Amino acid sequence: MQTITRKTVPFFDYPKVFTSQEAELLAVITDVGRRGAFILQRDLAQFEENLARYLGVKYVVGVANATDGLLLALRAAGIGPGDEVIFCSHTMVATAAAIHFSGATPVPVECGADHLIDPAAVEAAITPRTKAILPTQLNGRTANMAALGAIAEKHGLMIVEDAAQALGSRFRGKAAGTFGVAGAVSFYPAKTLGCLGDGGCVMTNDPAVYDKLLLLHDHGRDASGEVVVWGLNSRLDNLQAAILDFKLKQYDQVVARRREIASLYQERLGDLPQLRLPPAPDSDPDHFDVFQNYEIEAEDRDALRAYLRERGIGTLIQWGGKAVHQFPKLGFTQRLPYIESLFTRLLLLPMHAFLTDDDVAYVSDCIREFYLSGGQG
Ligand SMILES: *Cc1c(COP(=O)(O)O)cnc(C)c1O
Repeated sequence: MQTITRKTVPFFDYPKVFTSQEAELLAVITDVGRRGAFILQRDLAQFEENLARYLGVKYVVGVANATDGLLLALRAAGIGPGDEVIFCSHTMVATAAAIHFSGATPVPVECGADHLIDPAAVEAAITPRTKAILPTQLNGRTANMAALGAIAEKHGLMIVEDAAQALGSRFRGKAAGTFGVAGAVSFYPAKTLGCLGDGGCVMTNDPAVYDKLLLLHDHGRDASGEVVVWGLNSRLDNLQAAILDFKLKQYDQVVARRREIASLYQERLGDLPQLRLPPAPDSDPDHFDVFQNYEIEAEDRDALRAYLRERGIGTLIQWGGKAVHQFPKLGFTQRLPYIESLFTRLLLLPMHAFLTDDDVAYVSDCIREFYLSGGQG
């Protein structure tokens, strides 16, 4: 076998979020700084408008982060104590925490083969107290919203989407986060559209929900300054909004590059029986995926991970290696055998727009070498 030239491929490259466009970003920061435009200024309003147009949704409200966004979305939808909200346990704890802090009870369910919420499991978990379904549009893919929408309609439930990982992802042409009463997206630096710190937004098509979001995210104050409800301070910094508005202009290229990388992985790894890869871009006309992550299922996962680490390749297991219901101190009593078994195989390969074709080839070659050498390292 040909020897592979060693290189380093970090799982994510945080400095590049800034250094890849340092001069342009400094110009944005200087402009905002010199205007003293820090809180609720025109850059934020512009970004909200541009993002709403991009997603084909009526309203976008910038918030401090997606976790807050989900909490505010639930509160604006009138969900609270006594209600149950069904979510998929293969998600960040933030999804369940938002439900918890709304006062409702988070009810975890299984995912399907695509790692997204399983509609059959949702239907089986419905009780008289169920008020909403909260699907996580995981890894940049949107769940089967036709199936979830039918269940919601049949049982009179709301849908609130955790689209933290899915900006611009679509199901049958419709954007993640825009199917139900509201949805939240994250602008954490490693997300597909990342800012230089924390950030997020909520989107909705419902004017009444929009009005409530405006109040709830700014101390419960209306336009005249009158406090009309208990609110939080959860605004998206105007500076981050200005940076995001600049980055949004190149977002289509970022998504295209991520999809290209997914195709490269597919070409180079698709024949290995030890792996299960995510659906390739364009393999299903219902789905347009933005590949926030490239989450594979791998035989001998831990040995593969160690093998790649020795070769300078960073990988990750989402959520510290556990589904939400597997954190014992949170008090869940559910057993979810499919997800629990899945978590022994899940692995994220490097997936971001700063990767070169050579990086992807190197990662793929090392994985092939691992399995062809019998996993001995
Ligand atoms: C990143 C993430 C969140 C939280 O987003 P923040 O902006 O960091 O609060 C929530 N859910 C999922 C699925 C995420 O990946």
